[in-house]
Amino acid sequence: MQTHDYDVVIVGAGGAGMRAALEASKRARTAVVTKLYPTRSHTGAAQGGMCAALANVEEDNWEWHTYDTVKGGDYLVDQDAAEVMAKEAIDAVLDLEKMGLPFNRTPEGKIDQRRFGGHTREHGEAPVRRACYAADRTGHMILQTLYQNCVKQQVEFFNEYYVLDVLMTGDPRTDEGVRASGVVTYELATGEIHVFRAKSVVFASGGFGKVFKTTSNAHTLTGDGPAMVLRRGIPLEDMEFFQFHPTGLAGLGILLSEAARGEGAILRNSNMERFMERYAPTLKDLAPRDVVARAMANEVREGRGCGPNKDYVLLDLTHLEPAHIDAKLPDITEFARTYLGVEPYTEPVPVFPTAHYAMGGIPTNIRGEVLRNAEDVIPGMYAAGEVACVSVHGGNRLGTNSLLDINVFGRRAGIAAAEHAATVESPELPEGVEIPTVELLQRLRDRPATEDRVADIRRDLQETMDAHVQVFRTEETCRKALADIEALKKRYETVAVQDKGLRYNLDLLEAVELGFLLDLAETVALGALYRKESRGGHFREDFDKRDDVNFLHHTMYYRTLEGEEGAEGTSIRLGTKPVVITRYEPKERTF
Ligand SMILES: Cc1cc2nc3c(=O)[nH]c(=O)nc-3n(C[C@H](O)[C@H](O)[C@H](O)COP(=O)(O)OP(=O)(O)OC[C@H]3O[C@@H](n4cnc5c(N)ncnc54)[C@H](O)[C@@H]3O)c2cc1C
Repeated sequence: MQTHDYDVVIVGAGGAGMRAALEASKRARTAVVTKLYPTRSHTGAAQGGMCAALANVEEDNWEWHTYDTVKGGDYLVDQDAAEVMAKEAIDAVLDLEKMGLPFNRTPEGKIDQRRFGGHTREHGEAPVRRACYAADRTGHMILQTLYQNCVKQQVEFFNEYYVLDVLMTGDPRTDEGVRASGVVTYELATGEIHVFRAKSVVFASGGFGKVFKTTSNAHTLTGDGPAMVLRRGIPLEDMEFFQFHPTGLAGLGILLSEAARGEGAILRNSNMERFMERYAPTLKDLAPRDVVARAMANEVREGRGCGPNKDYVLLDLTHLEPAHIDAKLPDITEFARTYLGVEPYTEPVPVFPTAHYAMGGIPTNIRGEVLRNAEDVIPGMYAAGEVACVSVHGGNRLGTNSLLDINVFGRRAGIAAAEHAATVESPELPEGVEIPTVELLQRLRDRPATEDRVADIRRDLQETMDAHVQVFRTEETCRKALADIEALKKRYETVAVQDKGLRYNLDLLEAVELGFLLDLAETVALGALYRKESRGGHFREDFDKRDDVNFLHHTMYYRTLEGEEGAEGTSIRLGTKPVVITRYEPKERTF
C-alpha cells in the first residue's frame, strides 16, 4: 500500500472535476484521481450545447433562464441554486472562451447560440436561442479545453486509479468530529492500493445511467461515488428522478442530441403526423424532455409506432438543407448512418427514449458542500456535476443545463474545497483504513467460480429496470423491480471473477461496479414506489398528477448502518427535505 498527502483530492476528471481542479490547484495542493484517462470522461460525449443568457442572437436574460429551469424541473428545483447557475452561466461561458474553446460564431464573430428544449423568452412565450455550441461536439471541446488548461497549470492527475471508498473521521450521523479525510483507491495497472489523505474531498464522478439497459451513458457510468457515500451513511437525494432523453437511436440508446430538434428536426409517428403539436401546442418538439419522451412512448402504446414491431417513432431532418446538417450536426447524423444504416438527408431516423441523466445524487448546498441531513454539512466533503444534487434540475433537467452545471458548481466546489483546506490540519487516519477495500476485492477474487457471471447479473438488473422503472411506472412495477433487485443482490453475494490477476484486472473492477449499480438501482425503485405522484421524469400511471400538497419535497435516502436498528431487510430509510422556493410559486405546467 502507498499513501499520499494532499490538501484537496478530486474524484473524477470530467468537466466538473477538472473545472474544480483549475480553481483548487491555484490555492492548495491538489490531486485529481480518475478511473479513466481524463479526456475519456463522459463529458466528452456531450453534443448539443451549454446554455447562458448571453443574448448574442436575440433578446434574453438570466431571469428567464432561471424561470425556465424551475418550470422545466417541475418546481422541484431549489430556486436559489437555479438563480446562481443562470446568473453565473454568462461568466462560465466567457471563461471557457478565454481558455480557448472554439465555439461556433455568428457572422459578426460573437458566440453563436441555438434553440434547445424548454428554453424560452418571456416565461414560455416562444423558444429562445440560448445554447452556446461547437457543432455537435460541445462536450468534447469543453473537456479538451479544461484538460489543456489543467496541464498548463500543472494539475497532478492519477489516471486509471479507481476510488473504492471514502474515508470519514467520526460518524456522519452525529456532530462529533465528523469530516471527510481521504479516499482509498486501486491502481488499475498494478492492482496496488493507494490511500489518499486529504483535508477536502470533492466528488465529481458523474452519473449512473448503467442501471438501465437502454441508455446514452458510457459503460463507465456506474455511480461509484454516490454508492460509496451511501454505504458510509451519507444520504442521497431525489434518486427516483432519472431523465429519459427522447431521441436515442431505436433499439440502441445511442444519443441523437436535442440540437437536431433545435435546428428544426421534427418528430413523426407512423401516420407521419407531427404529434408533438397535440401534446405541447406552443413549444411542440422543443418541449422539455420528460414531456416529449412520454408523448413518444404514448404514441407507441396507442399503436402509432413505426417499424415492423411498431416500437419507435421517427426523427425527420429531411426538410433541412444537407449543408446545414453537415455544418451543425455532423457527428450525430453520422451515428444514424453508422449504427442504423439510415441516411438522414433523405430518410427519417428511428428513435425512442433512452436513459440519459440522473437528476438526483449526493446532496449539496450552493457552495458544493455535501449535506449529511436536510440541513447540516459534512466538513471537508464536496460534490459537483452529475454526481451531485444541488438541486438545479429538480424533477427534470433542461438540455444544455448540465454542461453549465458542471462548470458553475465545479468551479464553486473547487474554491470552497481549497478554502476549507486552508483552515484545517490534515486529518489523522487510523491504522488499516485500506482493509475494508482490500477485503472487498479479496472476497470477489477468492470465491470459487460459479456459473453466474457479473455480466449476467448486470444484464438482468438492466432489463428489470427498463421493464419496470422507466418512462412509465406503477406501484406494481416498482415492487416487481425491488423484488428482482433483492434476488440479484443474493446472486451477487456469490458471484466470482474469472481473472484473479493484479494487472489491468477490469473483470474485478466490473464486479465492484456491479455492486454499486445494485445499490443505486434499489434507491431508484424505492423512491419511485414512495413518490405517489407524477412530476418531471417520474411518471406514475396510478398517480398521474403532480401532488404539491403531499410531495413538494426532495426525497432523502439514508442507508441504515450495520448495528443500527432496522439494518436487516431493506436497509434504506427515506426522509424528506424542503424545496427552496424564492420567487416562482408552483403552478400547472403547460408548454
Ligand atoms: C451522450 C451524451 C450527450 C450529452 N449532451 C449534453 C449536452 O449537449 N449538454 C449538456 O448540458 N449535457 C449533456 N449531457 C450530460 C452531460 O454531458 C453530463 O451530465 C456531464 O458532462 C457530466 O459531467 P461530470 O464531470 O459530472 O461527469 P463525467 O464527465 O461523467 O466524469 C466522471 C469522471 O469521474 C471519474 N470516476 C467515476 N468513478 C470513479 C471512481 N470510482 N474512481 C475514480 N474516478 C471515477 C471518471 O473517470 C470521470 O473522469 C450529455 C450526456 C451524454 C451521455
